[in-house]
Amino acid sequence: MNPELPLSPIKETLKVKGDHLIISGPCSAETRDQVVNTCQQVADTGKVHALRAGIWKPRTRPNSFEGVGEEGLRWLAEAKEITGLPITTEVAKGEHVELCLKHGVDVLWIGARTTVNPFSVQEIADALKGIDIPVMVKNPINPDLQLWIGALERVSHAGITKLAAIHRGFSSYAQTPFRNEPMWQLPVQLKTMLPEIEIICDPSHIAGSRDIIPLIAQKALDLDMDGLMIESHIQPKLALSDAKQQVKPNALDRILSELVFRKPNTVDADFKNHLEDLRGMIDELDENIIQQFATRMNIAEQIGLYKKDNAVTILQVNRWSEIVQDRITMGKALGLTDKFINKLLNIIHEESIERQNRVMNAEQFAEKVEKK
Ligand code: PEP
Ligand code: MN
Repeated sequence: MNPELPLSPIKETLKVKGDHLIISGPCSAETRDQVVNTCQQVADTGKVHALRAGIWKPRTRPNSFEGVGEEGLRWLAEAKEITGLPITTEVAKGEHVELCLKHGVDVLWIGARTTVNPFSVQEIADALKGIDIPVMVKNPINPDLQLWIGALERVSHAGITKLAAIHRGFSSYAQTPFRNEPMWQLPVQLKTMLPEIEIICDPSHIAGSRDIIPLIAQKALDLDMDGLMIESHIQPKLALSDAKQQVKPNALDRILSELVFRKPNTVDADFKNHLEDLRGMIDELDENIIQQFATRMNIAEQIGLYKKDNAVTILQVNRWSEIVQDRITMGKALGLTDKFINKLLNIIHEESIERQNRVMNAEQFAEKVEKK
């Protein structure tokens, strides 16, 4: 980020009381009444701090609804006037930024399909120079943390100091219950690398269907994200975009009242002491696990040398299948899932093969290093 410009939280700029920024409103602005009525009902819940609506819609195929354009900004501005809540929309070009400013949009966001393209992000960043407006950057559609950070940097270098990231999940070929895989480790890594940047979760685009929104939203809150962006519509089933994932304002109200908003910390001394004890146990276990892994890898090397002396291949598929079956059964008995054991065994096996390969072919490895 721009080291000369310290960031200030968007939550503060929007005067959010409490720890979480909640944004809601339609996926797309469709008609004046749809925008105004949805926003009004969403505001009436008393649980929402900012209103959203897409004005220019990046659609996968042409000839689908591509947004109403500038007219929709007037409807959003009217919703702002009626509810007193700030408004936010997606910008994909420099020209969008100018139009948003003209119509009093309070917060801008860069969409997932734009974040992937540094030319577009730079064009937006150039249009933002000299303007003091909060900007949120959605993750790129592909799971590339550097691309996400790069877009945040471009916006930061334009002089924006109210900067947040939006986690909306990642495209994947795998069949999963999600429209976009959450891949939680990516926002967690972003938070670890750039703790000063707020992260808002967009469970609607992760879910793709209404029913699993609460589950995703709760997980985001439990990972200490700074807020939620949830799509809402007065008649979701008739929506011109993302009909399956939008919720009615009363459903939004219910979702928000059922979510548990926890704090990352507490001043309660007993809680802290107990947490310290538990963390101490985890630290000790991690140390043991790492030591055991090191021992395991040393034994793998001994096996490698022994196989070398006896001209035997590294891999014996039968032995490997037995190991997997045996460890899965063992894990199950201890409450560990197949998925976890499989993943764990795969990384252990990969490293183990690598280590055996190195000791078996030590001469070739040495030659390669010398040549370099
Ligand atoms: C949206 O928020 O409506 C949208 C288009 O989202 P994304 O950029 O995450 O696909
Ligand atoms: Mn949408």
